[in-house]
Amino acid sequence: MSETNSNKTSVLIIGAGPAGLSAAITLKNQQPQTEICVIDKALDAGNHNLSGAALEADCLDILLNPVDKDWKNSEQAKNVLAYKIDKDNLLFVLGRTFAFNFSFTMKIFEALKMNMAQMSHLGDYIVSTSKLTKWLCLTANNLGVEVIHGFAAEDIIYDEKKNTATGVKLVDQGLNKEGRKLPNYVAGEIINADCIILAEGCDGLVTEKFIQKAGLTRQANQLYSVGVKEIIRVSDEQFKEFTPGRAVHALGYPLWTPVLGPAMFGGGVMYPVSQNHIAIGMIVGLDWKYCDFNPQDALTNFKNHRFVKKFIEGGTIVEAGAKMIPEGGYFSLPRYPQTSAIGKANVLILGDSAGFVNMLKIKGLHNAIKSGIAAGRAIAECQNNLNAAASKYTEMLNMLGVMEELKQAAKFRPAVAKLGPLFGIPLFTMLGNKLPRFKVEEDYKVMTGKKYKYKPSKDYDKDTFTAMAATEHREEQPSHLTIINRNICAQKCKPNYNSPCITFCPAGVYETVNEQVKPANPSNCLHCKTCQRKCPFDNIRWTAPEGGGGPRYKNM
Ligand code: SF4
Ligand code: SF4
Repeated sequence: MSETNSNKTSVLIIGAGPAGLSAAITLKNQQPQTEICVIDKALDAGNHNLSGAALEADCLDILLNPVDKDWKNSEQAKNVLAYKIDKDNLLFVLGRTFAFNFSFTMKIFEALKMNMAQMSHLGDYIVSTSKLTKWLCLTANNLGVEVIHGFAAEDIIYDEKKNTATGVKLVDQGLNKEGRKLPNYVAGEIINADCIILAEGCDGLVTEKFIQKAGLTRQANQLYSVGVKEIIRVSDEQFKEFTPGRAVHALGYPLWTPVLGPAMFGGGVMYPVSQNHIAIGMIVGLDWKYCDFNPQDALTNFKNHRFVKKFIEGGTIVEAGAKMIPEGGYFSLPRYPQTSAIGKANVLILGDSAGFVNMLKIKGLHNAIKSGIAAGRAIAECQNNLNAAASKYTEMLNMLGVMEELKQAAKFRPAVAKLGPLFGIPLFTMLGNKLPRFKVEEDYKVMTGKKYKYKPSKDYDKDTFTAMAATEHREEQPSHLTIINRNICAQKCKPNYNSPCITFCPAGVYETVNEQVKPANPSNCLHCKTCQRKCPFDNIRWTAPEGGGGPRYKNM
């Protein structure tokens, strides 16, 4: 930010993840004189970035070749891109014992030019998003971009008369639990900017406020999933047997089974992280119907499957975390109706904040990075008229192929949401986008009183999970989680669904205290935002805590 006016910058980026940093790198490299400030709520680079990420690395060529032709030979690049996928296991898992590898069908789908061929991961890289983010942050810093960690944004300042945004308000620091000012109180600053990029990740707090204030709409409700993940240190023999180039994506048990059993969308993932470390995760669509379901129970079941167990048995969990993923795809992108821009005037929405994940590929990182490149290029072109930046950005997304890719997968996730995985996946395989566009409910509306039939015998150890995410917040601050109406909890939710937030929150934040459900342990929160989207009465609001709080991921 400028030294003479400490709260004004040219381009303000909210979120130092792959999308925001790619925008900063692209713009700074094209226009070194442009002042760019990136604000992030995490204490350090990559601390809030988690993904089960297979990366299509061509986006890094587009991003980094203009900066340094030799980038692939840098130590950071070699570290981040250490594992190229040469063994792509697409499994259909049937019960606790059987698993059928159907990756050979990708070749058939490819030959028949079917959309499902996108599910192949051969040639992609397995990356730790935290490490990738750290590297991109260093690259941005070296170009002269100011990246400030430990400051959370809570709102956008939007001028309705001019139809543009003028700045962003940061979270107040130094309040006690009751909201009273402590001696070290600092009011959240307003940072003014000529152009604002929202790259906060999934279900962004400022992004969603901007969407409302500026009148953006989605053609279809956004659908979410939650991913829970552990990194397990295994033996030399187990790692050797797994092999460093293997990625496993598993459908079926324990989320759904043909004919009988649960019917949830999602699956298990496994891939190498570093020498003798295997990541294992479970991703579940938030449109699950089972009121006692906890994604970590599904992870336990997956870990106990015969195929998986042999690679991790006896291993030690060294890191863990959770995040939400925006799955709705093309029809769920927030657009300004008059221009179809993903953003409006001088505000651009990037990465998971917009929802560029392609669920057919089970990947979104490449599109997040491309959205950053598109934003950087668009702002560089619109220096004399920044109110045209959002429309130019949307044009650039088209030019980089992001929109076409999402269009090809557009009807996949809505079909699965409407028809369930048993019918939705095969129907999309056969008919692709010839299917009708099914209307989908918001995730929280589909909860029922039904029970998940594969509950493990032992409760998942959420305390260890939270400790392995190294999450911390200053205890003496107002809770960043609010239950809007406690009567609903007692009178409607408890009798019908038995208070599911207590079960599904991966960090055990919610508890019954004196017969009332409360966010009793907000300092355990992993910022996944699942509770905000899955409480069956839409009765929870997540706001940003003081900057610097939250998980501290290193290899996720
Ligand atoms: Fe139910 Fe939501 Fe209340 Fe939790 S917060 S008890 S999920 S209504
Ligand atoms: Fe995720 Fe909500 Fe639990 Fe925090 S409280 S970890 S946002 S589900």
